[in-house]
Amino acid sequence: MNFESVLKEIYTEAKSFPVIGTVASTIPELAKIDPNKFGMHLTTIDGQDFGIGDSNEKFSIQSVSKALTVTLAFSLLGEKVWERVGVEPSGNPFNSLVQLEYEKGIPRNPFINAGALVIADMLVTHFKNPKQDFLEFIRTISGCDTIDYNLKVAQSEKDTGFRNAALCNFLKSFGNIQNDVDVVLDFYFHQCSLEMTCKELAHSFFFFANEGKTKSGQQILTQSQVKRLNALMQTCGFYDESGEFTYKVGLPGKSGIGGGIGALFPQHFSVATWSPRLNEKGNSELGMYALEQLTTKTGMSIF
Ligand code: GLN
Repeated sequence: MNFESVLKEIYTEAKSFPVIGTVASTIPELAKIDPNKFGMHLTTIDGQDFGIGDSNEKFSIQSVSKALTVTLAFSLLGEKVWERVGVEPSGNPFNSLVQLEYEKGIPRNPFINAGALVIADMLVTHFKNPKQDFLEFIRTISGCDTIDYNLKVAQSEKDTGFRNAALCNFLKSFGNIQNDVDVVLDFYFHQCSLEMTCKELAHSFFFFANEGKTKSGQQILTQSQVKRLNALMQTCGFYDESGEFTYKVGLPGKSGIGGGIGALFPQHFSVATWSPRLNEKGNSELGMYALEQLTTKTGMSIF
């Protein structure tokens, strides 16, 4: 398969894609991003590595980071992770509070904010310098040691993150947050503020496609663990639009309100898209379209 020509075709089509959606407004710093950016990068197990458009421009990965924090927690704690976070789709928006009440503080999955906060709490408990140690992990899996937090974005979210503060306090009232709420929120806002290019994100997601092994050959998770996280991304990675993404694209993936998506086809490729215009579910409209075109043109989806 010549992915270079497929990506070029997708780029041409993306240029005439109708302008739909708006840039995230909940984090003021993100609202400043040019809505018309579009990039895509694909990297294959057999060594093809190709990007189009704004694929070398950094963007805020936001909730895509949740796939990477749960990876680190799962690699450290194994199945114990699932004692405090579930593995079921929520069918609710990413920042919803409602299910927590009747599910006694056990978030449905690690990709909604409540679940990601519990995962953040696990990492805060485990590490002496959680933010630094998580950053080192990201640099290792991406093979890029310049990846960093955007402190302005982290601060902007801290200033306006009342709902996440509510979620974290609510979780703590059920005993499912062990550390100080402010420390957990601080970690969470930093993980969301990580900046990557599409190329760096596709490289970071490589191990999900490569049975747990990074591009440089480091085993991050076992084959079985990767199977489980891919299953979770497939069923929960797009919140209450996970069914739609599965229907249209048919790949495990994770979205973020910075407009990024990381996705993969096991044993074949990992891919990242970036377009800041979001639909009403908080997922990138053009990114989803580009991935739908990718699996339609190549016939490469897990279904
Ligand atoms: N930092 C954002 C928040 O917690 C992440 C949300 C997202 O990307 N879906 O609201």
